[in-house]
Amino acid sequence: MISFKNVNKWYGDFHVLNNINLTIQKGEVVVICGPSGSGKSTLIRCINRLEPTQEGDILVDGMNVSDPRTNMALLRAEVGFVFQQFNLYPHMTVLENILLAPTMVRHQSKGDATALAMELLKKVDIPDKAGAYPSQLSGGQQQRVAIARGLAMQPKIMLFDEPTSALDPEMINEVLDVMKSLAREGMTMICVTHEMGFAREVADRVIFMDGGNLIEENTPEEFFNNPQSERTKDFLSKIL
Ligand code: ADP
Ligand code: MG
Repeated sequence: MISFKNVNKWYGDFHVLNNINLTIQKGEVVVICGPSGSGKSTLIRCINRLEPTQEGDILVDGMNVSDPRTNMALLRAEVGFVFQQFNLYPHMTVLENILLAPTMVRHQSKGDATALAMELLKKVDIPDKAGAYPSQLSGGQQQRVAIARGLAMQPKIMLFDEPTSALDPEMINEVLDVMKSLAREGMTMICVTHEMGFAREVADRVIFMDGGNLIEENTPEEFFNNPQSERTKDFLSKIL
């Protein structure tokens, strides 16, 4: 579903992604962890060309992200993105936030899009918040709306960039629970997160990044019980 082939990226002189090779199958759940500044956000932002790369190829469901002829609107419609900051439109209700992309980008009828949006609000466990404004919701509820908004485009891939890092501790699990059910339904997911309980429970693979390099990738069991590199061991000793 996603493959990186010898991908390199620089910010000016700074080599932020160093020869990344990575393949992610349909239905796989991959967790990426690593110290701050290691390139995790940059890596996943390259998948829908929120950031351009300078060398190598990234293929997403058969489309080449690096090829200028690729229809990026089509590609982005297949890839849902959930950020640390929920990025909801404050002047729109929850329902309006969710309807925006399906009606404007996918040109779905308002009736069809609304039916799906209400279903998704049930799925993220806030069916009664359709008419609320973001400011009337808790952080955990806002992040669940952001996930519903991503799902409303019926994407094939969901990317999460530290989706629980801005939340108060008591709200983290309600967001992780939604992500877990999505994972169990077979969504292809890449999650940048330091929630290692989540990684142990649902990840097929855990990847450790440091200094723009993919240092280690393994099953959660091997990754946590038998880390190979000193840098991984050092990182795990700080966060576990
Ligand atoms: P992470 O998500 O692992 O914390 P990032 O991908 O956000 O790491 O950043 C990797 C490195 O690239 C950091 O050193 C950061 O300061 C730098 N960086 C990120 N975005 C930019 C940018 N737009 N311009 C220049 N440097 C950047
Ligand atoms: Mg980041």
